[in-house]
Amino acid sequence: MAEDIRVRFAPSPTGHLHIGGARTALFNYLYARRQNGVFVLRIEDTDAERSTDESVRMILQDLKWLGLTWDEGPEVGGEYGPYFQTQRLDLYREKLEFLLERGHAYACFCSSETLEKKREQAMATGQQPKYDGTCRNLSRADAQARIKAGEAYVVRLKLPTEGTTIIDDRIRGKMVFENNVLDDFVLARTNGLPMYNFAAVVDDAAMKISHVIRGDDHISNTPRQILLYQALGEPLPAFAHVPMILGADKTRLSKRHGATSVGAYADEGYLPQALTNYLALLGWSFDDKTTLFTREQLIDKFSLKKVSKNPAVFDPAKLQWMNGIYIRQLPAEEYVARALPVLIAAGLLPEPLDEAARAWGGRVALLVKEHLKIFTELPAHVSYFFGETVELDETAKEKMLLAKERPDLFKSLHQKMSMLESFTHKGLEEMMKVLLAEAQVKFGDLVHPLRAAVTGRANSPGIFEVLELLGKERTVKRLAAGLASVGITTEN
Ligand code: GLU
Repeated sequence: MAEDIRVRFAPSPTGHLHIGGARTALFNYLYARRQNGVFVLRIEDTDAERSTDESVRMILQDLKWLGLTWDEGPEVGGEYGPYFQTQRLDLYREKLEFLLERGHAYACFCSSETLEKKREQAMATGQQPKYDGTCRNLSRADAQARIKAGEAYVVRLKLPTEGTTIIDDRIRGKMVFENNVLDDFVLARTNGLPMYNFAAVVDDAAMKISHVIRGDDHISNTPRQILLYQALGEPLPAFAHVPMILGADKTRLSKRHGATSVGAYADEGYLPQALTNYLALLGWSFDDKTTLFTREQLIDKFSLKKVSKNPAVFDPAKLQWMNGIYIRQLPAEEYVARALPVLIAAGLLPEPLDEAARAWGGRVALLVKEHLKIFTELPAHVSYFFGETVELDETAKEKMLLAKERPDLFKSLHQKMSMLESFTHKGLEEMMKVLLAEAQVKFGDLVHPLRAAVTGRANSPGIFEVLELLGKERTVKRLAAGLASVGITTEN
């Protein structure tokens, strides 16, 4: 029987779910799905000062938005719960006792002031600051007496002073660490709450995690964790450290590089399928060429072997481009359902929408579906559909000047439009065909100034659709105003 694959995503709820965390969650999810394993979500909330319920709520919401559903964890439960570390304190206490009894851990009474002083001294003499082992060799009886007397203490792991610890990483290969450079690190604070390294190892062991897949910023924790597994007598999981994500300037991705939280991308109107696809490529590739993958394809193709050791660069322009592709793939109704609230929020459409406005707004939005990269761009793309008049931008003004070469043609266009009964794509096209033939001019000669006058821009979607949606009254009014701006008067 194949080994039971169990992986986990273990966020600390101290803020939004960030791009880096989401990518780690995605790799865990894909690995679990590919291997028919279990994807566990565990909330590491033992840092009481920084953890908030609001962060938990946002993290769960953003994971769901990305479609990264977990098999065990908050809301769904599971055999190895609870999945909030603050609800597992008894287990950590028990394991701490286990380590203390066996002499693998010890109580340390050094005050933080003393430790800080020693740290400063070490720095001043150019030495690596490291716990000096003052309490390491206190007898258990002495230590217990001091604890009984009410002295404050932390618990430290007693590390070997020689030898090496090796990480056999699934992505980075073997990494060797000299034990003597590691500290006797703290397992539990004076208030008894566990530190990250300790709680994570106790839980990964208790939850039977087979593969720890996480960011490579945790590499320095891993030798410590391996020594902890050994002290606890627990089997080691496999480790896979995924590469860092950098901004365009090659520094670690941070707020300076723009939006870094998944929620912000959701709010800006990115599609979860686009963000998922893009995140998958941050450190993983299938064949260095293919960029578009459905979720099923990602699950089918994902492997740790293809995860790179090298940092990945987050490129917002590529994400936008990819989002545009996914927007184009949306079925019309789904596209419209996403577009209308954006137009309402921009104040272009009223709320509530009546049937006619809904249908009209949907058609307007659909006109630019092929051109949109993100939904927040939508209002700017279609703003000229709203309001009575438009202002001509510089390029439109230039196009408008072309009308001066044929004032009669444009007067005639204006007149025919005012009289046109069937102001539809078809009706307009037929009318203009006749006009062009009579005047012997090219389509562009007529359309460029016309488009400039009615949209205020040099470019727009197909002119007949635009005119039909704008309607006769506004089209005629705007054409007259545009012509007037270049000195051509029309009668009305
Ligand atoms: N709570 C840790 C973090 O958010 C988890 C690290 C790990 O995956 O072990 O960084």
